[in-house]
Amino acid sequence: MNAPLNPGLYIVATPIGNLGDLSPRAADILSRADVIAVEDSRVTAGLLRHIGTKRPMTPYHDHNAEGVRPGLVARMATQAVALVSDAGTPLISDPGYKLVRDARAAGHVVVTIPGPCAAVAALTLAGLPTDRFLYVGFLPPKEKARAEAIAEIAKIRATLVLYGSGPRLGACLAALAAGLGDREAAVTREITKRFEEAVTGTLATLAARYADAPPRGEIVIVVAPPGAPEPASAADADIALAEALTRLPASKAAGEVAKALGLDRKTLYARALEMKG
Ligand code: SAM
Repeated sequence: MNAPLNPGLYIVATPIGNLGDLSPRAADILSRADVIAVEDSRVTAGLLRHIGTKRPMTPYHDHNAEGVRPGLVARMATQAVALVSDAGTPLISDPGYKLVRDARAAGHVVVTIPGPCAAVAALTLAGLPTDRFLYVGFLPPKEKARAEAIAEIAKIRATLVLYGSGPRLGACLAALAAGLGDREAAVTREITKRFEEAVTGTLATLAARYADAPPRGEIVIVVAPPGAPEPASAADADIALAEALTRLPASKAAGEVAKALGLDRKTLYARALEMKG
């Protein structure tokens, strides 16, 4: 066996479909870890076979995490504990953040081995702005809770990234169109796998396309940010100026309204003088 790793917690990202995406560093850490905390040992056993190693595994998933976490954290004092999920980056819509939190609280070293993540991979395929994005994860499956979750994010000026599934895709896209307006979007599917695709269009056209034809495989939906707000009209400016003039001299009223509505101060000042006259 290779040299042992220092004790601590190693967060290891794994492929989201193409085993070739496992980084050499991830393979090295996995083959030297004392124990690997896994969601599903059959999935991780396949990955370990791919890199030609066998390591002890212990289950760590939503249903047992509370019970097994203290024991795992205790092991980090003397052992290298790696955390993987079935695919992609642990902690991203997968278990792990409490393990990191408790490992830190206990004074253990926490190391990350970054790599594939479906959300980021989808952003690179969608052709939508990436300067600001909000990772939304999975929307609630029930209609009312889903509509509420969408309403909560409707005003956010960022590209939205959502995880989804084939059977619910059409309904989910229709709910997004209803709650966000008919924005540009992309449905990315089976990323890094044989049938990888990115289908772009507006939310309504995509909803219609998938309404009766739910696609197979794993899906990420990427939605464009809301469009630029409509500029304030001359009538809006007059109303705001008239109100400001009841409290302020013309120059200050023009300054206040210019700032509030994003309009030109000089033009507003001329209009304020006209209104006063
Ligand atoms: N931790 C993972 C990551 O880093 O992306 C995500 C885990 S989450 C439980 C699983 C969801 O990720 C899937 O339902 C799907 O929405 C998305 N996903 C995972 N692999 C994917 C792929 N190859 N193509 C598209 N979406 C994928």
